[in-house]
Amino acid sequence: MVPPRVEPITNAMTVDVEDYFQVAAFEKCIQREDWPRWPVRVEANTRRVLELFERRGVQATFFVLGWVAERFPTLVRDISAAGHEIASHGFGHERLTTLSPSDFRDGIVRTKHLLEDLTGTAVVGYRAPSYSIGPTTLWAHQELREAGYLYSSSIVPIHHDLYGMPGAPRFAFLVEGSGLLEIPVTTVRLWRRNWPCGGGGYFRLLPYALFKRGLRRVNCREQCSGVFYFHPWEVDPQQPRVPGVTLKNRVRHYLNLTRTAPRIEQLVRDFRFDRMDRVFLAPGHADYPVVALQSDELGARLGGIQHARPSG
Ligand SMILES: [Zn+2]
Repeated sequence: MVPPRVEPITNAMTVDVEDYFQVAAFEKCIQREDWPRWPVRVEANTRRVLELFERRGVQATFFVLGWVAERFPTLVRDISAAGHEIASHGFGHERLTTLSPSDFRDGIVRTKHLLEDLTGTAVVGYRAPSYSIGPTTLWAHQELREAGYLYSSSIVPIHHDLYGMPGAPRFAFLVEGSGLLEIPVTTVRLWRRNWPCGGGGYFRLLPYALFKRGLRRVNCREQCSGVFYFHPWEVDPQQPRVPGVTLKNRVRHYLNLTRTAPRIEQLVRDFRFDRMDRVFLAPGHADYPVVALQSDELGARLGGIQHARPSG
């Protein structure tokens, strides 16, 4: 008897479309009002990413910042025309911990309309700047649902000095109350801890073989789809250097920038990837667990991490 053919698990490939001077790691060195004074690299870098995806036959989800979409409408149209999903990264890259619910609402509504007007396609996905949905900002899920979003990918369930919600589920779940689907960035469970395996700085810092083993474990042993993310500035080793950045943030931002693009090429050869909506919203996914995220309990477990300064 021929054994049934087992299709490899498909993971979600995501790109947070923002420029190098907008990251939280630089917020003490670059004032928001000074953003227009820095050379813009996001358009060229995103086109480089598009070219890589086209060469490798990968379709992905691009979480675009409203600030970027307003300045580069053609870029947004081109991403969409290439078959990728356009999703929202909010408007001005403010962490949710610095916004009131009504200011947050204005940003997600404005960005959704802007992206939908540009592409003529419904925008249903959202990612919080610096993964800033945490114990003190759990009101965000209801706001997103009311604004017409269907999913968020804004939680990393790890211990980290800058962000993270280690008590949250590791895999996609429906948030009790709002019914919004939250799709956490991938982690690996080892030695009773969650370890990062979803991209960003870790993808540049850790050996690729380790990363590959982690994602393979999630796909094969847990039979779950992973969520990978990176930024266009991570494929740009020539980006202008920002003065006055702390050593820690310099390492986080600049280390191994030359390695990102070749590693992503390797990653998409080793694993199967597609857009978030196709991986997680396709029919047959009606069995996500409903989970209540409780701010008090989680806040206590985190012990004040929510007040630290996130990056990414
Ligand atoms: Zn971001």
